[in-house]
Amino acid sequence: MKQIVLILLFFLNLGYLSYGQFQEYFENGSLRIDFILSGNAKETHASIFELKKEPYFGGTLLKTIDQFEYGEFRIVVKDAESKEDIYTRGFCSLLEEWQTTEEAELVDKSFFQTLTVPYPRDNILVSIEKRTRNGAFYELFHAEIKPNDDGVSKSHLENIGTHKLIDNGSKDECIDIAFIGDGYTKDEIEKFHDDILRLSNYLFTQAPFDKFQKKFNIWAVDAISEESGVTDPRKEIWKDTALRSSFNTLNSDRYLASTNTFLIRDYAALVPYDQIYVIANTDKYGGGGIYNHFSLTSVDNHRSLTVFIHEFGHAFAGLGDEYYTSEVSYSDYFNQAIEPWQPNLTTLKEFEGKWKDMIDSSTPVPTPAKEKYFRKVGVFEGGGYVAKGVYRPAYDCRMKSNEARAFCPVCQRAIEKMILFLTD
Ligand SMILES: [Zn+2]
Repeated sequence: MKQIVLILLFFLNLGYLSYGQFQEYFENGSLRIDFILSGNAKETHASIFELKKEPYFGGTLLKTIDQFEYGEFRIVVKDAESKEDIYTRGFCSLLEEWQTTEEAELVDKSFFQTLTVPYPRDNILVSIEKRTRNGAFYELFHAEIKPNDDGVSKSHLENIGTHKLIDNGSKDECIDIAFIGDGYTKDEIEKFHDDILRLSNYLFTQAPFDKFQKKFNIWAVDAISEESGVTDPRKEIWKDTALRSSFNTLNSDRYLASTNTFLIRDYAALVPYDQIYVIANTDKYGGGGIYNHFSLTSVDNHRSLTVFIHEFGHAFAGLGDEYYTSEVSYSDYFNQAIEPWQPNLTTLKEFEGKWKDMIDSSTPVPTPAKEKYFRKVGVFEGGGYVAKGVYRPAYDCRMKSNEARAFCPVCQRAIEKMILFLTD
């Protein structure tokens, strides 16, 4: 018996559950945990808002334990009886971005956050953890959740069209991206579908997505807005749209986001999904992407295609921003005394675990910004919103600029690892 337990632990630690083990702990569908993250520059609090049972779980059934350790937060789900970890995932929120702004020094604010886990058969212990400034996780909140409790809501939206626009297989074997439109009226649904296909087809021309096109399903959820376009506060344009997307998030004109997470998840729940992509029917430049939360982009700007995949890099693979000159108002976003968790940024504090293996012996570390190194993998100073102390892997990359030719090799490797984790 002891040996069986040890073997089980071994598999759990590697992040694999056999299909039989998955069936032992989970049934069909997902448990959606809506919660509130609140706080200020110094404190963070979490509390449950609502629990829901939803029809689909779009994620992998075999790798329920996160192997990446990306994200400012993570959820740890334990079987209440055995206390065994049965599901873990890292994620990010708009809260921690806001916490680095000046406003967070002055007031408290709340943000909606949602996590979905495979629907548990028996009681589970859920904890939400956040990183300290030194990178270690600490528990913000924990609760026992009883999946058979009457308090779990089964409400859902009615009469919303859904379409599988690109079908490469079952939800358990493929990565399902749920696209939801914002600022599309009922007469613009055809445009919504055309926009999804235009963006997705561009994604599949870009490495490494080009190699893995057959591992993705593309879904459309027809959210219908009363008005066309989205809210643009600096121009005093206020629109009545399905998902309430807006520019000027965190006082950055081009930061397009929606704080209506629960509403977005209500639409997404109508299809299986691994990732949610909200596309906004406007030609103004902008977007945003938050790891394991959702991505947003405008669709009709001449740079929308490159913004589209840049934001997906954040939300899907935990990639960090490699740029350092911008209007982004984050102050001191990265603690330079520690290694950041983002796979494509380093402070050179623990570089061994990053992309050292991809650097030629003839390339100096740090790498000078000289033309002879422009096509090389190196360690270039400037990234993560600062010019000094944070380093990026390439002179240019899709995570640095819209002019870059592609994702750099380090970002490509990180994306590929995530695709394989979710599908192999
Ligand atoms: Zn890169």
